[in-house]
Amino acid sequence: MTRLLLIGPPGAGKGTQAVRLSVACNVPAISTGDIFRSNVEQGTELGVKAAEFMNAGKYVPDSLTNDLVRSRLNEADVEGGFLLDGYPRTVAQVAELDDILAGTGHSLDVVVLLSADTDEIVGRLLKRAHEQGRADDTEDVIRHRLEVYAEQTTPLIDIYAERGLVVEVDGLGSVDEVTTRITAALDARGIALFAS
Ligand code: AMP
Repeated sequence: MTRLLLIGPPGAGKGTQAVRLSVACNVPAISTGDIFRSNVEQGTELGVKAAEFMNAGKYVPDSLTNDLVRSRLNEADVEGGFLLDGYPRTVAQVAELDDILAGTGHSLDVVVLLSADTDEIVGRLLKRAHEQGRADDTEDVIRHRLEVYAEQTTPLIDIYAERGLVVEVDGLGSVDEVTTRITAALDARGIALFAS
């Protein structure tokens, strides 16, 4: 019954770790970035609106993002817990998530902060751009995404730290090493883990 958030700069490896952690914690992983990308691919109204912001390295407006998460968190499969990857990213999204959770009578158990060095991140994202051809992974856009993260998302760390929810994990190293670090930190907090 775990409810967790995964926060970290673009390129810290959130997506990869989210998939593994959702298995370890036996909860669905919800990635707002993935939901936006699939809407872009399908050419939905939301996708057309979101693409404009994503391709410029900007955040999709809170109104669109919040509506999407609210409806997703009202689906039956998240009643027993969830892992949110890449949401919330702004102070207004924190307030929205608080409100959504208050409505369901649940609260967050832990916020995993995946940290990584900026130069390492730029290198990783450029590599991913070559491999996957993502439109938001050019060097200028990457640098802008990191600025937006620093301005709009880092304040969330203090908000959740004040609530005693933050566990910081170094995102550098192999995928397995990072997963082991995160699961050890969750275990130390008494979060239930399942063998995969
Ligand atoms: P990600 O795959 O998490 O790096 O997200 C890719 C892009 O989707 C971001 O750079 C934003 O443009 C958009 N996005 C994803 N999640 C959010 C969010 N919580 N708030 C605003 N924009 C978001």
